[in-house]
Amino acid sequence: MEKFQKNNLKKIIELLNSSDNNIIVLGAGMSVESGIPTFRGENGLWKKYGTPKMDSYKKFLNNPEEWWNNEINMKMDKYIYELRHKINVAKPHDGHFIISKLEKLGIIKGVITQNIDNLDHKAGIKNLIEIHGNRTKFRCIECEKTFDRNEIIIKKPPKNCLNCNGIVKFDTVMFGEPIPKTKLDKAKQLFNQSKVILAIGTSATVRPISGLFWIAEKEGKKIIDINPNETNLKEISTHNLKINAKRFLEILEKEITK
Ligand code: NAD
Ligand code: ZN
Repeated sequence: MEKFQKNNLKKIIELLNSSDNNIIVLGAGMSVESGIPTFRGENGLWKKYGTPKMDSYKKFLNNPEEWWNNEINMKMDKYIYELRHKINVAKPHDGHFIISKLEKLGIIKGVITQNIDNLDHKAGIKNLIEIHGNRTKFRCIECEKTFDRNEIIIKKPPKNCLNCNGIVKFDTVMFGEPIPKTKLDKAKQLFNQSKVILAIGTSATVRPISGLFWIAEKEGKKIIDINPNETNLKEISTHNLKINAKRFLEILEKEITK
């Protein structure tokens, strides 16, 4: 690690130690070292397959039956199949487990993940908000109740909600779909209570989470940006380290627990 980066890391650790309410916000970059590609960026899926139309929720609502038929007959955009395959075979990496350990140690109070891959949960993170949903679940669009998906490949559309008879979709949030209210409220609450926010592997471009960073900064909270590439947080972060998620977390664990 360069000298500049080392000094920066030292300051980040001081900041985390000085606050009793640190949270982590994760983006797709966190799972890159588990073999799951991002959407955006040089090695992202959209570079390979093209940027999709951002209207999937509208299409789903217009005709859920047709949407499920397309799903069953494998007529979705191509990038989706690569993402799903990579998610199906992925395992949490050491960085995921380190976050879980930092939570147990009380250094981290909660985690908001934008990832849908279930790796944060598998690593044992407890106070976890999966703001964009979880690939292994269904969700009712009316009452927001979630149900486990028992099969990976869908052979028939899910039944309506057992709770309220509402339409059921994958839990993952589609383009144009609002974040379920209960989840967004919880995420806002976690942001509100925090003093230091560690953003790891997120470009901070996807709303509404990206907006919460700007509100947090106005409220005087400290934002630390961990990403090998420049992000939108550049203007508002107090510290940033150009480093991969896993390597950063390994160094952080070593320094913070010695
Ligand atoms: P994003 O906006 O979170 O951007 C990804 C970021 O990861 C980029 O800033 C990139 O520089 C950074 N990155 C790349 N490699 C990294 C590494 N090794 N360590 C740390 N950071 C690294 O995400 P996106 O790809 O534009 O996706 C948008 C949304 O799509 C996500 O919020 C999520 O809901 C969904 N998505 C989820 C997954 C997943 O569950 N693993 C994967 C792709 C997309
Ligand atoms: Zn319901």
